[in-house]
Amino acid sequence: MTEQEKAERFAKSAPPLRDGELEAINALFPTYIFRRSYTEEIWTTCCHEHTTVGIEDMRVTTPERNFMSVMWEPHQREPRNRWCEPAKPSVECPFCGKPAIVKEMRYTGKRENLSSYRRAVVLRWYRGALWARAYDCSKHYTAGYDLAGDPTYKLVGVYRFRPGLAEETTRSWYGNSHFGHIEKQDGPLTKGRWRIHAPFYANADYGIGYDVIGLDEIQESPFRYCCAADFNLSGSRLLEFLTACCFYPRQIEMLMKAGMKNVVTDLVDRGVKHAAVIDWNEPNPAKAFGLNRQDMKIFLGTNRDIQILELHKKLKGRISLTACVEWMTRGLNVRGTFQAAKKWNLAPERLIRYLDGYVGCAQYGGMQSIGSALRFWEDYLTAAEAMGYQLHRDNVLLPRNLGEAHDKATKEHREKLARERARQEQEWARQREAAEAERVRLVQKAEKEYEKLRAKLEKKYGFSMDGYVIRVPMGKDEILEEGRKLQHCVSGYADRHVQGKTTILFMRKVKKPNEPWLTIEMNGNKLVQIHGFKNEGVHTAKGRFAPDPREVYREFIDTWLDWLQKGSRRDKKGNPKLPRKKGAAA
Ligand SMILES: [Zn+2]
Repeated sequence: MTEQEKAERFAKSAPPLRDGELEAINALFPTYIFRRSYTEEIWTTCCHEHTTVGIEDMRVTTPERNFMSVMWEPHQREPRNRWCEPAKPSVECPFCGKPAIVKEMRYTGKRENLSSYRRAVVLRWYRGALWARAYDCSKHYTAGYDLAGDPTYKLVGVYRFRPGLAEETTRSWYGNSHFGHIEKQDGPLTKGRWRIHAPFYANADYGIGYDVIGLDEIQESPFRYCCAADFNLSGSRLLEFLTACCFYPRQIEMLMKAGMKNVVTDLVDRGVKHAAVIDWNEPNPAKAFGLNRQDMKIFLGTNRDIQILELHKKLKGRISLTACVEWMTRGLNVRGTFQAAKKWNLAPERLIRYLDGYVGCAQYGGMQSIGSALRFWEDYLTAAEAMGYQLHRDNVLLPRNLGEAHDKATKEHREKLARERARQEQEWARQREAAEAERVRLVQKAEKEYEKLRAKLEKKYGFSMDGYVIRVPMGKDEILEEGRKLQHCVSGYADRHVQGKTTILFMRKVKKPNEPWLTIEMNGNKLVQIHGFKNEGVHTAKGRFAPDPREVYREFIDTWLDWLQKGSRRDKKGNPKLPRKKGAAA
């Protein structure tokens, strides 16, 4: 027989769901009463009734059979999304009395939003073993489903628990797969975690938790004394708990009854056995802790924190259990203290006694616990180390007056840090100044270079005639200003212009030489573009666009370009030499 066949056979040998169990699953879902007012029909999802409410029914008004309120109760809407409060039951089912939500059929649409999903683990004592069957369950009320019908369910995992053996088979999480193989936990936990797990993976519709049905069945099983009902089931760890019960039933019983549920939780959830202080293989639970009668009595008189025993064990019997109990009640941080003791090469009990001496001394910061004294001492050490104190000396490592030593060391340390900080800030300020000076130098250098370029360009392009002037921008800033004022894209050319890669010129009126008006891009002697406000893309009295400046100022521009073409000739004063205009007086 293949692994898969064995798994399928194992799953088939599990007890099938019986009516009571199916009803318990049904009860996990919201209870609706669907009502079709004009036919006077109702359907109940709790007890599967479908009936037409007659006059006689309406007259009956005992609490159990109150049809009147069901017929008059307003329809309840579903919440709009998952985070809204769900609808609350507002009536009682007239048949079984369960609180229910009324849904008027004509307001429910296709009822797709009412589909809901649950995960259930159903327990049963059956043929000498405790079985758990895990189901993915759902209820739907769309067309084709019986409104008063049972949930649909799918078996996704089968578990069998017997003393000394826990078995599991689950479907893979994807698709409608078969049961693949049988997982077994056939011995106690030696290391790592339990091999038996819930079959459920996180899913948006289901989450990862599950509801347990048939907890009473455990009372029929050998695990009846393990106090499963007291174990925290909200963490959905029942299957792991039962697995642990297969191997440590008496120890779990003892721990649960001793109020040491945390220890059981550690075993179930994380496979942590606290093996240093609990002998899980000792059949006599009283001996499992390895304590003598006297110490056992002392321990049972405490809050039964397993850390008390662990502390006692770690100190190898050098310290009495009573002292350990005392230290724990005074807020000892076992892990932190032992780590610190190891780091500074101290006997842990010496460090604990030292720290304990400062608990409750208001003078030293009013330390509430050995744990806060530890933090205070470590705070001192951090400062002392930084200040180069001789910590290998006993009276420096554990100063006689920790409060004074702490304040002195931390004060010195703070001052040192402040000095370093000030130095650092000075250094940063110096770097900032240097960077600023460098920036200014570069700007000045660029300005100087541009000044040379500008003079050259001015000589070539600078022009004035008939009240108009063409000139070279004074610098990058002026080009940016031109772009802002005229709302066109010349700003993007500013860098290229000052680097001499392209040439931008301003055309201005002689009377307003500093008011942006028209902008020109040149390529040698060739005019590439000339534009004014918004590239002429504005409404005007004449239509959608302002006229093209190249056309409007054709005479001026052509004269200028012609002059340029002929070599930008100038008279002695530097004014452009122009050919005499036809018909104009000299
Ligand atoms: Zn009902």
